[in-house]
Amino acid sequence: MYGYGGTIVRINLETGEIGRSPTPETFAREWLGARGFVAKTIYDEVPRDADPLGPENLFIIAPGVLTGSFAPCGSKVGFGCVSPLTNGHADSNMGGHLGPELKFAGYDMIVFERISPKPVYLFVDDDTIELRPAEQYWGMGSLDLEARMKKDLGEDFQIATIGPAGENGVAFACITHDFGRQAGRCGVGAVMGSKKIKAIAVRGTRSLPVHDLPGLTKHTYDIIQRTKTHPNMEPWQKYGTALFVSWANEHGCFPSRNFQTTVHEGWEGISGEKLAEEVLVTHKACFGCWMNCGKYSRARIPGKPDAYLEGPEYETIALCGGSCGMTDIHHVAYANYLCDNLGLDTMSGGNIVGFAMECFQRGIITQKDLEGHELRWGNIDDFEHFLRMIAARRGIGETFSHGTRAAAQKLGRGTIEFAEQAKGMEFSGYDTRWYSAQLLSYCTSDIGAHHNRSWAITADIELGQDTPVGKAPVVIYLQHIRPLFDTWPCCRLFWGELDVTPEEHAEAIKYLTGWAMTIEESMRVSEKIWNLTRAHYLERNGGPGRKHDVAPLRQLEERIPNGPAEGRKVGTENFEYMLNDYYANRGWDRDGNPTREVLELLGLKHAADNLEKRGLLGKPIPGGIPKVRGQKLKPKAM
Ligand code: SF4
Repeated sequence: MYGYGGTIVRINLETGEIGRSPTPETFAREWLGARGFVAKTIYDEVPRDADPLGPENLFIIAPGVLTGSFAPCGSKVGFGCVSPLTNGHADSNMGGHLGPELKFAGYDMIVFERISPKPVYLFVDDDTIELRPAEQYWGMGSLDLEARMKKDLGEDFQIATIGPAGENGVAFACITHDFGRQAGRCGVGAVMGSKKIKAIAVRGTRSLPVHDLPGLTKHTYDIIQRTKTHPNMEPWQKYGTALFVSWANEHGCFPSRNFQTTVHEGWEGISGEKLAEEVLVTHKACFGCWMNCGKYSRARIPGKPDAYLEGPEYETIALCGGSCGMTDIHHVAYANYLCDNLGLDTMSGGNIVGFAMECFQRGIITQKDLEGHELRWGNIDDFEHFLRMIAARRGIGETFSHGTRAAAQKLGRGTIEFAEQAKGMEFSGYDTRWYSAQLLSYCTSDIGAHHNRSWAITADIELGQDTPVGKAPVVIYLQHIRPLFDTWPCCRLFWGELDVTPEEHAEAIKYLTGWAMTIEESMRVSEKIWNLTRAHYLERNGGPGRKHDVAPLRQLEERIPNGPAEGRKVGTENFEYMLNDYYANRGWDRDGNPTREVLELLGLKHAADNLEKRGLLGKPIPGGIPKVRGQKLKPKAM
């Protein structure tokens, strides 16, 4: 089969058995890779009552069709499991070089079952696949371990690691690779740690079989020629995603002090410009990328050792920076380094420390809970001490190690009203009170409040920031188009910033595989995955679906106190209007449960049967489901 590595691997960690089978072409075409492979496998194989950190959960690594090809920009690899943070389907991906290396070794998916009796790491060197002892690495920081394993195995191995937080089962632990690329969200690092897998080391030396090499070469060459002079290229190369800090403050969506307001006093000190001036060491790129948005940096803080890291990028600056009240780029970079080495997602990590800082501000937690320390806005020492308590699950760190929702449920005293999360997943770095489509995106997402599932901020601007009308169909379109980049998988920034169209990506798949795959076919795969993971979430968590699509009260009813969005809130009524519109446009019933008609149309009869057995199937919609589910706002990417 063209375009793929050709082999799926299954590893039973309990017995050490390693099995291989050819990747079925029907499976590849139907689910494409990464997020698609994960969604299908997790849905079919993980029992609905399986503990996310127990032996029945699976842990999966999967590149996809574009990974390792030189179509723009096939650097990504997906990780999947059931999430300990949301108790639903989980997938998270990373760039760098690990995914391409796996494809070059010949593998399209590795499925880990059960739990190893001892710490191990996965060693892959072309045909050689071994579980090797990792006791000597257990306890090490993610970044420290990658450097050590490069020394032990050789620079040409691509390595992914977890840190102490993953070993300890912190629900928002991440997986790190290439000294700063993360599969950050959903707690995939905790599941890897629960399996006792400390690291993955891969070397692959084969080439990918390409159906039409001259065609793919010309296609990519033309895109390079066109995009290298794109006006967005230079600022992205210079500042990376951090260039967005000034824009977000000017547009009233930057989270400050746990989203208490949306313009951050002192944001200039943590801007992209400051990053370039103060901490940037050099630029960095993933496999096959000519945009190199990655920034390799050094944080210098008197009294602390210099810290080297990749970043901070926008989300980290928003959440470890603005949401924690920081105004010094060195402090944000250091916070980024701490999260990376401890193995914590900077987004959930920053969000939850900001939430805890507000609890401290309100006197809900005190120095007594913090081993004598404080938790003051913008204080990097307080940040560090508390983060280490979380990573070790020590004292009150244990309460916060399960995420903001779980912490708020335990703390009580109205804290849930300012816990900025949906389905247990902490908000990405955008306040939504002037951006209701973005709130709808967060709350209807299968994995919770992650911007990458559908970034709708510019759609809000185009449709009108003070109206809920017309938002739902555009959010659905974005929820289908944007996750395609997690399924092919490849870097979405070439689409979002350099105007490489989804159609051009679909054309690359045609040259690579020989399949006449249109963008419409890809979009159908995306809609199918979206409905499957919705069914999965309901089957695990019960219904109706509507009860899970819940927004934090702060976003609904607390008016923004100052700045460009002063006085704005979404409003409960507007949110309910958008939800009704959303369910109708998806072909789900008013309870937010998928209907048999839409599931069968997408080839998911088994999911309809499963939902029906559990009393979770949507009621038939009078007049049937909409013919077109999701509506493009304009031809340009958003
Ligand atoms: Fe990686 Fe950035 Fe290039 Fe995307 S643009 S492939 S994230 S370096």
